[in-house]
Amino acid sequence: MEYTERQKQEFKRQFASIRRKQMVVSGLLIILMIPYVTANESTGMVLGTYPIAMVVPVFFVVVIGALVFSFRNWRCPACNKYLGRSLNPHYCWKCGIALR
Ligand SMILES: [Zn+2]
Repeated sequence: MEYTERQKQEFKRQFASIRRKQMVVSGLLIILMIPYVTANESTGMVLGTYPIAMVVPVFFVVVIGALVFSFRNWRCPACNKYLGRSLNPHYCWKCGIALR
């Protein structure tokens, strides 16, 4: 399908916003990894304050939420196909539209 210059610009603008949201969600996940990896099995505490039993369910809810969000967000603005694992695609693998 052929798009006008104006539409192509709009797709790039939309993709910039999609990518920004994706970065925020990825950043949040990385921040959440910190308490997760510092969990102390012998004391059963995370960061010395929170019980692991309380943190783990919250962690999984957030991770699943982030995955669902990514799956819905990380799509081509033109053809709506999932963009795959690359965080920096220049083109849509499906319709070939320039994303950046
Ligand atoms: Zn596409």
